[in-house]
Amino acid sequence: MIKFINVSKVYKNGTKALENINITIDKGEFVFIVGHSGAGKSTMTKLLLKEIEPTSGKIILEDKDITKVKNRRIPYIRRKVGVVFQDFRLLPNKTVYENVAFAMEIIGSHPMEIKKRVPEVLEMVELGEKANDYPDQLSGGEHQRVSIARAIVNNPPVLIADEPTGNLDPDTAWEIMKILKGINGRGTTVLMATHAKDIVNCMKRRVVALEDGKVARDEEKGVYEYEF
Ligand code: ADP
Ligand code: ADP
Repeated sequence: MIKFINVSKVYKNGTKALENINITIDKGEFVFIVGHSGAGKSTMTKLLLKEIEPTSGKIILEDKDITKVKNRRIPYIRRKVGVVFQDFRLLPNKTVYENVAFAMEIIGSHPMEIKKRVPEVLEMVELGEKANDYPDQLSGGEHQRVSIARAIVNNPPVLIADEPTGNLDPDTAWEIMKILKGINGRGTTVLMATHAKDIVNCMKRRVVALEDGKVARDEEKGVYEYEF
C-alpha cells in the first residue's frame, strides 16, 4: 500500500531531515510514527501529501510512484490520502457542511453525490446536528471531528493524522482515537504522527520510531519509548 524506498530528504539549507528511509505499510494497518521534535515525522507526512519532494528515493502509494505524479493539487493525491492536522485548518467562513463539501468539490464530485455523502460522513463523526454551524462555534474536539470528516469524505485508502490530539484534552483525545480506530476498522490505512505517549502505549499498534531522520525502531504492537 505505502512504501518508502531509500527515501532521503535534504532541505535547501542543508538540513538532512530523512536519511535512507525504508518502510512498507500494508493495507489496513494502523501505524504510529513517533520521535522527538525534529526527528522527521512531519517531513514524512509532507512527502506522502506531495507538499515536498524527496531528494532521493521512491514513495509508492498503491503501486504508483507518487514522486512521478506531476502536481499535488491534482485530484490524485486528494483521492488517495486524507489528512488531519493538529491545528484543524478548517475554513472559518464556511459551515461544517461546507468545509466537508469543499473537499469533494475540489476533486470534481457531482453535486448530487456531495449532497448524499456529506451528511453521511457528518453522521459518522456524530456532527449531524452541527452541519450549519461555523468553526468558531465548535469545541476543539468538534473541530477535529469536522477535519476528520473532511479527510475521509472522498473515501481515501490512506488517512494521515499529524498530531491529531495535540491540541485536545485527554478525554477528547480518546474520543478522536475512537473515531480513528473505527475508520481503520473499516479498512483505511492510518498513519498517525504523535507525541501522545499514553495513547501509543494503550493502543498496542505498530510503532515506527524516527531518530535524527532514521528509523530507530519498527515494531508490531510497539510502545512510545523504552524506559531504563
Ligand atoms: P518532526 O515532525 O519530527 O518534528 P520535521 O520533519 O519537522 O520533524 O523536521 C526534521 C528536520 O528537518 C528538523 O531538523 C527540522 O528543523 C528540519 N526542517 C523541517 N522543515 C524544514 C524546512 N522547510 N527547511 C529546513 N529544515 C527543515
Ligand atoms: P494550502 O493552501 O494551505 O496548501 P490546500 O489548498 O492544499 O491548502 O488545502 C485546502 C484545505 O484542505 C486546507 O485546509 C487543507 O488543510 C485541507 N487539505 C489539504 N489536503 C487534504 C487532503 N488530502 N485531504 C483532506 N483535506 C486536505
